[in-house]
Amino acid sequence: MVDRAPKVGDHISTLDTPSMIVDLDVMEANIAKLFKQLLPTGVNIRPHSKTTKSAILAQKLVDAGAKGGCVAKLSEAEVMCEKGFTDLLITCEIIGAPKVQRLVELFRKYKSIRIVVDSEVGAKAINDALEESGIEKPITTLIDLDVGLHRTGVQPGEPALALAKVVADCKHLRLIGVQGYEGHLQHVHGREERKQQCLESMAILTQTAEALREAGHNIEVVTTGGTGTAEFCVTVPGVTEVQPGSFLFMDTDYRNAVGSFYSHSLFILSTILSKQGPKIITIDAGLKSLTTDSGFAECKTLGYTYGVLGDEHGSLSWEDDALELKIGDRVEMVPSHIDPTINLHDVYYAHRKGVIEEIWPVDTRGKVQ
Ligand code: PLP
Ligand code: MN
Repeated sequence: MVDRAPKVGDHISTLDTPSMIVDLDVMEANIAKLFKQLLPTGVNIRPHSKTTKSAILAQKLVDAGAKGGCVAKLSEAEVMCEKGFTDLLITCEIIGAPKVQRLVELFRKYKSIRIVVDSEVGAKAINDALEESGIEKPITTLIDLDVGLHRTGVQPGEPALALAKVVADCKHLRLIGVQGYEGHLQHVHGREERKQQCLESMAILTQTAEALREAGHNIEVVTTGGTGTAEFCVTVPGVTEVQPGSFLFMDTDYRNAVGSFYSHSLFILSTILSKQGPKIITIDAGLKSLTTDSGFAECKTLGYTYGVLGDEHGSLSWEDDALELKIGDRVEMVPSHIDPTINLHDVYYAHRKGVIEEIWPVDTRGKVQ
């Protein structure tokens, strides 16, 4: 059998479609921009791998100056650790017996993982399971604080102080800090508006950190921020770490909100399958290749309008005759929401000027637990 699997050195024009491709020059420029802007502040950068789902990319970011990484879910942490990337903060609460047991087993092997808690019941369940496990080392723990997102996080003030006391009394948890993610602000349009709202959230976060210190707790880490706000978070005294993720690749939703400081570097390569009229064709990228929760994807070449035709199909229409597309032509589509789009694909084909340089698996694809 002839091996037809794409290889390093192949041109992207030889790839089957739909395929996820990354323009390395643009991605590397995005990484350089982020580190140039944020590193001189002295705040640690712990990029969020919920976007890339790739141990190779997490390591590339460490090589560029990051300090560790984040994952959203425990099952992502399991995969990343097996791939050798172990300096991880799991940013979602770990609740329920099956997950707590998995956490214990992961921690038994990888003592560097960090967790967050936002409830007494959650903290105590992990503490009890660790007590039973016989593992002596306590697990590094942060209090997850609600700074306005109202997704997870204990409320500031008394509730946060009460939870910190619970955690401090848990022998198998070692309290090191606070996480306060202001996810509701990442896509606020207008830089000044986003900045003002971010600074308000940061005040809640840093004042709570200070109150916990005054109550005698060890708060070394104050972690927050995403692509849309990290530049503001790092200016706030008391913030020690930021967690941006989407900046590597960007998407149309982010670009529409925060502008083009970072550029689109990831595209879904797609083939024109059928002509449905003088100015409308069908491509092989539908709901299984591009997500729609944040609006429709765009074509990289301006002038086309994309529409979903189903699971496997999408349409492109145009007004300008010069944009005529024929069956067999290819287009590059710009995702509207990068994290769930990447979760639809097995591999990245990373190319420079069309020549594939690296092929990265999407390691934590489907790891939603
Ligand atoms: N931190 C947490 C806890 C998140 O949930 C997210 C994204 O949802 C991020 C950081 C990264 O945000 P972004 O991809 O917007 O940079
Ligand atoms: Mn997202």
